[in-house]
Amino acid sequence: MKYIVCVKQVPNTSGKVAVKEDGTMDRSKMATIINPDDLNAVEAALALRDENPDAKVIVISMGPPPAKGMLHELLAMGADEAVLVSGREFGGSDTFATSQILAGAIAHIGLDKDDIVFCGRQAIDGDTAQVGPQIAEKLGLPQVSYAADIQQKDGTLMVKRMLEDGYMTIEVETPCLLTCIKELNKPRYMTVRGVLEFDQKPLTVFDFETLKDEPLIELDTIGLKGSPTNVYKSFSPPAKGEGVRVEATADGIRGMVEDLCEKHIV
Ligand SMILES: Cc1cc2nc3c(=O)[nH]c(=O)nc-3n(C[C@H](O)[C@H](O)[C@H](O)COP(=O)(O)OP(=O)(O)OC[C@H]3O[C@@H](n4cnc5c(N)ncnc54)[C@H](O)[C@@H]3O)c2cc1C
Repeated sequence: MKYIVCVKQVPNTSGKVAVKEDGTMDRSKMATIINPDDLNAVEAALALRDENPDAKVIVISMGPPPAKGMLHELLAMGADEAVLVSGREFGGSDTFATSQILAGAIAHIGLDKDDIVFCGRQAIDGDTAQVGPQIAEKLGLPQVSYAADIQQKDGTLMVKRMLEDGYMTIEVETPCLLTCIKELNKPRYMTVRGVLEFDQKPLTVFDFETLKDEPLIELDTIGLKGSPTNVYKSFSPPAKGEGVRVEATADGIRGMVEDLCEKHIV
């Protein structure tokens, strides 16, 4: 049994956004972190693996070679294997191309009856939440998005899905794909043993040569040239003006209410 988790290395968007002259994001100038929702996906897979010791957790990321550092962290957290999908031909892919390449990479690993593919709900940089559902479509898998609880027992998988105003519990057949949200769990830290032993675990690179014959990958719709969408411009939002401080006194609050009434806000 395999739990395959798609993990994206993202720029730390709490810092300043670096932009190239052509208007695209300069990722090399920004600190990177593991996409937060993906840590919840990894934790979900590790927790299921802990209950099924015969299973293994494979983390997979598409990105440039430095993303290996992130994969080392995930191996130190407890993942069993890591795959880096990396090649110049894949660079500049939009969500359509990214999901196609990741689906091809997952097909290359192979999916069996009991396997589960996990994604985060959404990456904090692209922010589209498209890649998980697109991978499921391309692999022909049933999918449940916004997973807030996952129980796998006696061959059935029950997933509690978060909606805007409640929850829905779904029984889903495997193999399937789940997208995970932060309410699902609290991700574990790397262990000391994990840090000492991560380099004994396999980290495989799937380059263009490895994946070019995968039937799910159409070579003319990957990379910057093949992507149907392109980033036109990236920029940091302008700083907001200074706010107004109101003293928490009767006069201060009266003045604030008068101001709001004058502007027809209240
Ligand atoms: C309109 C548009 C145009 C773009 N054009 C360019 C471009 O020209 N050049 C460029 O470099 N980028 C471009 N991007 C960014 C690129 O498409 C995204 O980084 C990538 O497709 C992932 O999409 P996302 O960040 O919205 O992920 P989401 O769909 O929000 O991610 C959901 C989940 O999918 C999985 N996932 C997503 N990406 C990866 C990954 N790389 N590896 C492993 N798992 C992953 C993770 O589990 C993640 O939590 C573009 C994005 C958009 C929306």
